[in-house]
Amino acid sequence: MLVTTSQGLLPFIESLPDAVIIANADHKIVLVNSRAGEMFGYPVDALDGSDLKMLIPEHHRNVHKMNVKGYFRAPHARPMGAGRRFSGLRADGTEVPVDIMINAIMLDGARVAMALVRDVTYQRELEDRLTLESLTDEMTGFYNRKHFRAQLKAQFSAFVRSCIPASVVMFDFDNFKVINDQYGHAAGDVVLVDAGRTILEELRPSDTACRIGGEEFAIILPNTLLQDAVAFAERIRQSIQSMDFKLDGVVLHATITVGVASFTSTDKSYDSLMKRADKALYAGKAAGRNCVISQDSLT
Ligand code: GH3
Ligand code: MG
Ligand code: MG
Repeated sequence: MLVTTSQGLLPFIESLPDAVIIANADHKIVLVNSRAGEMFGYPVDALDGSDLKMLIPEHHRNVHKMNVKGYFRAPHARPMGAGRRFSGLRADGTEVPVDIMINAIMLDGARVAMALVRDVTYQRELEDRLTLESLTDEMTGFYNRKHFRAQLKAQFSAFVRSCIPASVVMFDFDNFKVINDQYGHAAGDVVLVDAGRTILEELRPSDTACRIGGEEFAIILPNTLLQDAVAFAERIRQSIQSMDFKLDGVVLHATITVGVASFTSTDKSYDSLMKRADKALYAGKAAGRNCVISQDSLT
């Protein structure tokens, strides 16, 4: 373990490009470098001797205090990128995403924790953007099949745990091959994008709209009973039927067939609901298309 004095360590931590915050077992800051002051928006003097909690967002303070206690019971070198996502609290009340390396040292005769704190705003934004991109369909802005499955799985857990209902409205465009053949693939794309935009306007913030195949879509409606999901499905079916899709002066029309399903007490997994929605959708195709079929009408 490094044994040193504040006077000896200061020139070294001042030379580092990351913030350095050294705290003792009583949760008090004992030494910081200027970069820490800049990152958190305080003069260095205001940090030295203060409670570490001033740099921790309110919602994380209790956990953080326990973590510090735990750390001093079993000090170890903790590298960057090893933990969960952390944020620091700036003087102006905003949060700064940070990554933290911690090591225990002996400073002026006492055991302290030295934290190297790196501002990871850029990396965090990049990470969030890449995650979102991996879950969304570029053309329509809807979520993709992967996200659909993940969300439905989460809804199924909520249903099993707390009996919170959820429904899925699954739809496929009717005779889409004919639209592509007659007007071209670009016209087909216009139909998908414009219809998608119209549907998004109909959704509540908690609903999740997904493109689960080429011209096949599914919307997860949390906290929604079957009859309300059927009413919603009927509304979007009518909206799309009445839309004028325009490309190069040509106006075309499209319809969808919709299958609707909700979780039931006999469901063993979210997959059962997907299968019922799919079955209802294909029953609708068999019944002549441009209609809404609910799981209730399946035999
Ligand atoms: P059905 O009523 O039975 O659904 O008939 P359909 O012609 O729509 O048949 P199906 O759903 O099997 O065909 C889907 C067609 O949609 C075939 C595919 O070329 C086209 N398609 C899938 N994705 C896209 C896309 O992103 N853009 C365009 N323009 N067409 C697409
Ligand atoms: Mg189709
Ligand atoms: Mg299809």
